[in-house]
Amino acid sequence: MMGDIGPEGQKSISSKKVVLIGCGALGTNIANLLVRAGVGELLLVDRDFVEIDNLHRQVLFSERDIGESKSETAAAILRSINSEVSIKSLIKDMMSSNIAEMVKGYDLIMDGTDNIPARMVINDYAVKEDVPWVYGGVLGTGGMVMNITGEGPCLRCLLPELPEQGDIPTCETMGVLNTVPAITAAVQVTEALKILMGKDHMKGLLQFDIWKNEFNLHEFRKDPKCECCGKREFVYLNEDNEEVVTQLCDGSIQIVPSGTSEADLKLIAGKLKGVENMKVNPFRLEFEVEGKKVTIFKDRRVIIKGAGDKGIARSIYSKFLGL
Ligand SMILES: [Zn+2]
Repeated sequence: MMGDIGPEGQKSISSKKVVLIGCGALGTNIANLLVRAGVGELLLVDRDFVEIDNLHRQVLFSERDIGESKSETAAAILRSINSEVSIKSLIKDMMSSNIAEMVKGYDLIMDGTDNIPARMVINDYAVKEDVPWVYGGVLGTGGMVMNITGEGPCLRCLLPELPEQGDIPTCETMGVLNTVPAITAAVQVTEALKILMGKDHMKGLLQFDIWKNEFNLHEFRKDPKCECCGKREFVYLNEDNEEVVTQLCDGSIQIVPSGTSEADLKLIAGKLKGVENMKVNPFRLEFEVEGKKVTIFKDRRVIIKGAGDKGIARSIYSKFLGL
C-alpha cells in the first residue's frame, strides 16, 4: 500500500540478497526490519556470543540466549518471524582475508559493526567490487548513517586515516542509549530499501543526536585524491592477516591468528593447567586465569577480558596456548 514502494517495489525487494556484518545493537535492529520488509535473502555474520549487558539494546535476544552465538540465535528468531526469507548465518570474524567469500553474490552490504578498521575493510571491498553498502554508527545519544554507492564519496573520503586507538570514545567509555541503535537502524534500512529498489537515496552523511533533537545532513564530495575510490589502492583489503591483535569495544583484547585452520578445543582443554571455571563445547572453550577471562573459538580466535593491554593479552596467549 505504500505508494513509494508498491507491488513492483516489493517484488524488487523480495528478489534481493543482503549481507549484514555484525549482529549487535545495530545489526539486530537492521535484521529485524529487513526480514519483516521481506528481502529475498539475509546472511548474518557475527563472531560474538550473547552477554547479559547486550540485552538493553540488542533486540532479538533474551535472557535464555546468554552464551549462545549471536548470528545463529538471531537467525532462528528471524526465521520464525518471516519464513519466506532465506536466512543464513556465520559465526565468523569478518576480515580482509575472508570478506570476499562471505559477501560475494550479495546485492547490498549492511554495516552492523562496532569498529572503524572493520568498516574500512568493507569500504575497500565494496568500492573495489562495486557493491553498495550502508554505513551506520552509534555512540552515546548520537548516530550516523551514510550510503556508499559509488556515486558519492566513500568512507575513506571522509576519514583518510584511522584515528589512533584511544583517541575516539567507544561504547565502553560512553555507553549507548538503547533508542539510538533503533533509530539508526531504521534510517539504514529505509536507505537499503531505496537502494534495493534502484530508487533515489540519501546523499551525504546524516548525523543526529536524539537527546538534543539535532538532525543534520552533511554534504561531502568525493575526494579525487582518496586512496580508496580515487586511486583505487585498497590497503585494508590487501593487509596480510599475520596475527591481528585488537582492542574490542568493551576493552577486551582479541587475537586472531593467521590461516584458516580450526582448533580442536577439547584437545586444548585437556592440556590446560592451573586454570579455573573451564567450560568447553564444540564451538568455544572458556576459562579464567590470573583474574582474566579467556575464550577460544573454533576458528582459533582468542578473546581475553580484563587483560588491560595488548602486551598482557599477548603473553597470556602464548603462555597458555603455546601459539
Ligand atoms: Zn573515497
